[in-house]
Amino acid sequence: MTDKGSIRIVNTVKEMQSLTNSMRNEGRAISFVPTMGALHEGHLSLMRAAKEKGDFVVVSIFVNPTQFGPNEDFEKYTRDLEGDLKKIEEIGIGAVFFPDVNEIYPDGHETYVEVEKLQKPLCGEFRPGHFKGVATVVLKLFNIVKPDIAVFGEKDYQQLQIIKKMARDLHLEIEIVGMPIIREEDGLALSSRNAYLSLEERKRALALSKSLGEIKRSFNEGNKDSSQLVELGIKILKESQIEDIDYLEIRDGKTLETKELAKPGDVVAVAARLENTRLIDNTKL
Ligand code: AMP
Repeated sequence: MTDKGSIRIVNTVKEMQSLTNSMRNEGRAISFVPTMGALHEGHLSLMRAAKEKGDFVVVSIFVNPTQFGPNEDFEKYTRDLEGDLKKIEEIGIGAVFFPDVNEIYPDGHETYVEVEKLQKPLCGEFRPGHFKGVATVVLKLFNIVKPDIAVFGEKDYQQLQIIKKMARDLHLEIEIVGMPIIREEDGLALSSRNAYLSLEERKRALALSKSLGEIKRSFNEGNKDSSQLVELGIKILKESQIEDIDYLEIRDGKTLETKELAKPGDVVAVAARLENTRLIDNTKL
């Protein structure tokens, strides 16, 4: 364990478990924010919520290899512990859990968790194995930190539903809290992957939030036909030369089932690629 400034950095599972065990024995409520680092205001908003909801906040920074496909950006994902620590200094985090890959996946590791139905559509279709990796690492982190509360962003909407379902199905005594998407002033959802965008791609990326906004506007004006609403969104993406669209869909906000007629509470979710950068966004109707 090391102290960087005022933040305690924990690298091993054993130390993390004993730290939160002793906090729990002192009667403190532990709140937890799992991240992959490259922190931005979206992550910080989760940490502030965690701070309000618990007495001892643990943030994990771990780029989880099992949720990346073979041709994805695991290697190039931004790793900047010093920069991340500076950003979270003033929040008052109890500990940062920053393990090595071998600490989480020692040789011979072979146990995985799958949330069978919810993991299939949307991102699951285009990133096979992704949510198996996510559910597995989140359950591992839950068993290491044993939080009372865990805070996730609605930015990764499907991930949030999967984790809520896993917590229910596996009787985890953890309150799963979802927090709203933090955006740039012009509407672009904050993402660690925005750093990959060129200036020109950054401009075109705005079409994602714009298409969601237009769908919502049309829905509020009385258009409930899912396929018409989706058409409208796709037109906006294409106007910004976004052709590589994994999906733009309207689905039930909880079950993620498809909808012919949209209703309030449904989610509009989009994933598209700008050159090598895959971006996601969503909004609730
Ligand atoms: P990541 O580091 O990308 O794995 O994200 C860690 C957590 O931050 C997840 O719960 C994300 O949903 C959340 N998050 C990422 N971007 C945002 C955002 N723009 N607003 C709110 N939460 C976010």
